[in-house]
Amino acid sequence: MIKKIDHIGIAVKSIEEALIFYESLGLKMAHTEAELEQRVVVAFMPAGESEVELVEPIEEDGPVARFLQRRGEGLHHICFEVIDIHKLLARLKETGVELIDGEPRIGTGGKKIAFIHPQEAHGVLIELYEKVPDEKVPPLVDLEALRERLRLQSEAARAGLEEFISALQKRGENRKE
Ligand code: ZN
Repeated sequence: MIKKIDHIGIAVKSIEEALIFYESLGLKMAHTEAELEQRVVVAFMPAGESEVELVEPIEEDGPVARFLQRRGEGLHHICFEVIDIHKLLARLKETGVELIDGEPRIGTGGKKIAFIHPQEAHGVLIELYEKVPDEKVPPLVDLEALRERLRLQSEAARAGLEEFISALQKRGENRKE
């Protein structure tokens, strides 16, 4: 069911700073992405069949930011490419494995991903990933532009939530009248 290690995720404070070392190894940044849910920007560097993913948080309160505060920079997760993510998740659930995502979520380019709790994997966060047909590889976008876009999206998401809460409160007030 496991095809290969797709990538290894490394949590870093600054992708540009980390690139100085990783490029000196001979790796090259091939594509970048912003993940709103995780509040991170990421950069992928192909290494043969697999890739190295540098993960940088843009906010203090996201999961990767908390990881950096607790443990400092370092190995954050290992991602396996799998043949059938639904089947594998169902099998893991049956055996009582604690999953962060019981159902795959749809990532960039339409890919399906799910995380397994690190407690289950002896201290390592495991990402499962199933390639979908005609999955789009995201382009190499300038990191600063990506961070800016993510910050704006994040603010908008927060504003949306505030609007939602105040709408609920108003509804409650109306009901009292
Ligand atoms: Zn990853």
